[in-house]
Amino acid sequence: MSGGAEKRHRNIGIPGIKPPEKTCNDPLCPWHGKLPVRGTIMRVRVEKVKMNKTAVVVHEYLHYVPKYMRYERRRKKKHVRVPPCIEVRPGDMVIIGETRPLAKSVSFVVLGKAE
Ligand SMILES: [Zn+2]
Repeated sequence: MSGGAEKRHRNIGIPGIKPPEKTCNDPLCPWHGKLPVRGTIMRVRVEKVKMNKTAVVVHEYLHYVPKYMRYERRRKKKHVRVPPCIEVRPGDMVIIGETRPLAKSVSFVVLGKAE
């Protein structure tokens, strides 16, 4: 894993996500640390970046209501960890991946920007 100076990030096992250009030495970074990502992958919008290494994101999705044969819009806020090598601003669309619980309300980590 640590051998080879050219490869500075791990393979996180999720295709289609560009690794960050910066590097970091955070153990809880999926790219440069040892944080396994497994489970749900979501595309969400960044709402607030005021906490230390943590952001608030909003997941907006459609939920089908069979009685009316229509979709209703739902939104859920989520706390996600932001590794130091990834810079996010409110309004950015990011890809987040599920990981183990990192804090009481944090069990997702930002993997990168969504195009
Ligand atoms: Zn990193």
